[in-house]
Amino acid sequence: MTADILLGAGPAVLAFDVGGTRIKGALLDDAGRPREEVRVDTPHDGERTAERVVETVAALARELGGRHPDVAPAAAGLLVPGVVDPVAGVGIHSENLGWRDFPFRDRAAAALGMPVAFDHDVRDAGEAEHRVGAAAEYDDVLVVTIGTGIAAAVFVGGVGYSAGGLAGEIGHLRVADGPDCRCGARGCLEAVASAAALVRRYEHRTGVALPGAAELLELVSGGDPHATEIWDDALDALASAFSACVAVLAPQAIVVGGGLSDAGDRLIAPVRERLDALLTFQRRPVLLRARTGSAAGLLGAALAARDLAEARRA
Ligand SMILES: [Zn+2]
Repeated sequence: MTADILLGAGPAVLAFDVGGTRIKGALLDDAGRPREEVRVDTPHDGERTAERVVETVAALARELGGRHPDVAPAAAGLLVPGVVDPVAGVGIHSENLGWRDFPFRDRAAAALGMPVAFDHDVRDAGEAEHRVGAAAEYDDVLVVTIGTGIAAAVFVGGVGYSAGGLAGEIGHLRVADGPDCRCGARGCLEAVASAAALVRRYEHRTGVALPGAAELLELVSGGDPHATEIWDDALDALASAFSACVAVLAPQAIVVGGGLSDAGDRLIAPVRERLDALLTFQRRPVLLRARTGSAAGLLGAALAARDLAEARRA
């Protein structure tokens, strides 16, 4: 999961993080150690995708249970992308995966035979970062995940703010005149600065399909003018969106995670500089790279499952 962040003693749990391309799963024992992690491709099956995701998660749980019979998970955490209602346990909508109003929590609980904590991937990844990562020392903080899409987990006064699952959708702040966004609008942050957008824009300009954003960054380092312009647009767009967040929420810190945060200081330092140039009297947030990295989702799912197991036990 991650070498340097362990959750410590607590109930044994299963954790599942459903992404647009992969489902990650882990079994944590009662010392908080991940006994094993698994990854499989996310099944894309039109209107049946949500059902297939639940079936896949149940199959992974059986596999993990079979290989580690000494660990008895008390609950499971399940995170999915899109718009999520954690109170009702429903995946309201996912643009990438195509479901609408699917009762994930109840279906997963029935398939797994244990209570399930169900939430939004970015919100719970943010929760993990806020409890055990770089955001831990701040009460007013945004944890921004930049991967296939862009969204933020918002913490105000130390408490997560979700607004029925709709808060933190900063990926759809308008930051430029284009390109078109899959949400139907134009010039959204996500259409300019997500890892997927960088690759898409480069291919659109040059006809060259890159495997991922890491390869675009290599081209930037090599002085490729198209890659450099696309990367500069992304940095400008992020700074512009962050300045809007600063105006509304005045966070003490903005913590950046997700796949694109692997760029490290090639991302953080220039966005910090650009944001600094945009602000005047406002509180200047500390800009930090997330500590939980690509494990944030699994850690968040595990924490949510433990919270649920402990609440049931109390
Ligand atoms: Zn949009």
